[in-house]
Amino acid sequence: MIRAFTIASGKGGTGKTTVTVNLGTSLAQLGKETYILDADIGMANLGLVLGLEDAPVTLHEVLAGRAKVEDAIYEGPNGVKVVPSGISLQGFQNADPDHLREVMRDLVDRCDYLLVDAAAGISKDGVVALAICDEVILVVNPELSSMADALKTKILTEMVGGKVYGAIINRSGMENTEIRRHSVEDVLGVRVIDMIPEDPNVRRSAAYKTPVVVKYPASESSRAFRRIAADIAGVE
Ligand code: ADP
Ligand code: MG
Repeated sequence: MIRAFTIASGKGGTGKTTVTVNLGTSLAQLGKETYILDADIGMANLGLVLGLEDAPVTLHEVLAGRAKVEDAIYEGPNGVKVVPSGISLQGFQNADPDHLREVMRDLVDRCDYLLVDAAAGISKDGVVALAICDEVILVVNPELSSMADALKTKILTEMVGGKVYGAIINRSGMENTEIRRHSVEDVLGVRVIDMIPEDPNVRRSAAYKTPVVVKYPASESSRAFRRIAADIAGVE
């Protein structure tokens, strides 16, 4: 059974943090003990979107060897556990991404599922995150530049010994010129797990620092997140 997933994309802004938060919360709603970890240590915003920006201890202190993992775990919506990163640049400079693997191992022992929100690009912390989990979920937008970066991320994942579980197409339905599901599968050579539509409720819920699956559970995007959670957890 696959329990630890890295949520990655290559390109920034495709929806990695949104997927990590909402998929994590949906898994928690299924009764699964679920942890979400912000491995985007330079541009951390998992804590921000959940109102945890004042967390006294974060992954930064853990990666700097100044705190224990258990002191950086916070209670999120519907019982999902959150390990945020700090937002200060000083904290980022002191954090050593080489310790990410130990943190990941420690967390995965505590739960049913661990989702790791990875950094965009090919920085050290971003690349380390591609290999520490069992498998990688690529978050792509149905447009060319996102696809090109996702393909690069897939190749990079395999180069560092990781494995791709599948792709999620996020923000679909905006343009009738968008890249189709089968083309995404052909180009990336991976299964598209599901598609999440462009949904204004995603941003609306962000204003309340609440996941869309909690704030607007009947919305189209929430339904998609719940389908993906069910796919991962193997429930109908
Ligand atoms: P990343 O973590 O990959 O940089 P985010 O999850 O922060 O991306 O998403 C970038 C922006 O796009 C955020 O403002 C988010 O609210 C918005 N967004 C993400 N997914 C959707 C969606 N399906 N519909 C509408 N807005 C979305
Ligand atoms: Mg992000």
